[in-house]
Amino acid sequence: MLLEHLDRKLQALRAQDLSRFTRIAETGTAPRQTVVGADGVARELLMFCSNDYLGLAAHPELAQALAEGARRWGGGSGASPLVSGHSRAHHEVEAELARWFAPHIPQARAIGFCTGYMANLAVLGALGDAEAEIFSEALNHASLIDGARLAKARVSRYGHCDVAGLRAVLAASTARIKLIVTDAVFSMDGDIAPLPELLALAQEFDAWLIVDDAHGLGVLGESGVGTLEHFGLRSERLILVGTLGKAAGLAGAFVVAHETVSHYLLQAARNYIFSTASPPAVEQALLHSLALIRGETGRERRARLQTLQTQLRAGMQALLARHAHLGWRLAESHTPLQPLIVGGNAEVMQLAAALEAQGLRVPGIRPPTVPAGQARLRITLCATHTEADVDRLLAGLEACIPTLSEVAA
Ligand SMILES: *Cc1c(COP(=O)(O)O)cnc(C)c1O
Repeated sequence: MLLEHLDRKLQALRAQDLSRFTRIAETGTAPRQTVVGADGVARELLMFCSNDYLGLAAHPELAQALAEGARRWGGGSGASPLVSGHSRAHHEVEAELARWFAPHIPQARAIGFCTGYMANLAVLGALGDAEAEIFSEALNHASLIDGARLAKARVSRYGHCDVAGLRAVLAASTARIKLIVTDAVFSMDGDIAPLPELLALAQEFDAWLIVDDAHGLGVLGESGVGTLEHFGLRSERLILVGTLGKAAGLAGAFVVAHETVSHYLLQAARNYIFSTASPPAVEQALLHSLALIRGETGRERRARLQTLQTQLRAGMQALLARHAHLGWRLAESHTPLQPLIVGGNAEVMQLAAALEAQGLRVPGIRPPTVPAGQARLRITLCATHTEADVDRLLAGLEACIPTLSEVAA
């Protein structure tokens, strides 16, 4: 009975082309990765799907730093941070991040989390109490949506990058504490939130501005600090969540805010208090990753990403002009996240499969991750891709089009 109930739900998902499954990777994160396909056979694929934008996940110095960290600290942290899990390495990562954000947040203090998902639940759960109202952008990441659900605060949504819409809901609110919550770089669209305008509203309406910079950290800004540096923002209203499993190439996350906010989170964030701290070896390696991001390696790789982005956008726009009848659209993105919006679920999955048959892995993204009718290929570039790799992707897409038109006809 119970199993049948779930079986029926699974069948319904299959009928809408919405089933998901995991694939086994046989090699580490890199543009060329050996992955087991749906047929059970392992193949080397050219990947356009990781969030390892700077290509640091496979950097030999990070592997070395992890190994050294493991020799010094051994394995796990053994306890939550407030008990005994907070090592010198954890402390130093937090101190370094506080220095990164000092130009943007007065009296900045960072606190570490195991994942960005946890950090978002923590911030919204702790600050979104019964006196608060959360103003949540329509395309926020699932972890922010879940954080808002867990919070006792009332939640109002505003439209994607709709500054006037946000202003209207703020003006209508009588809540004592207001929290504006947004992705900095939208994770399925690659566009950047209008943070200067949002910060101006935060000032006008005496609100916090909580910014999730999972896709900006390491990538945006002259020195890789992210979207706050990109816009040159500074305010004690800013509460920034950053993740360290994407451009930083490792794992973990942090919240950085005015020290009073961070100190309050330490008292009130349940998933900080009741969860085991990350392994100290990872923190030791993170210190090295942060140095790479701000140093010459980071600067060079951010410049490489710009070159590849320009090449991909130009090639894609030419391709879309040749095949306007398909109704595909390239998202307006100035980041290495370059989605191609295709439309239907079956169409996008068929396209992804046709690309994979040519040795190219670009994931199809379907609802509920994106709105219905806007299924897309989520193309991500890494600094370790070559121009030839981008050409191969463009040629691969071109080669898929005749087969797709046949099916549609
Ligand atoms: C990936 C992501 C997260 C979650 O971070 P993890 O460290 O992977 O848990 C949060 N917010 C956004 C916008 C993301 O893209």
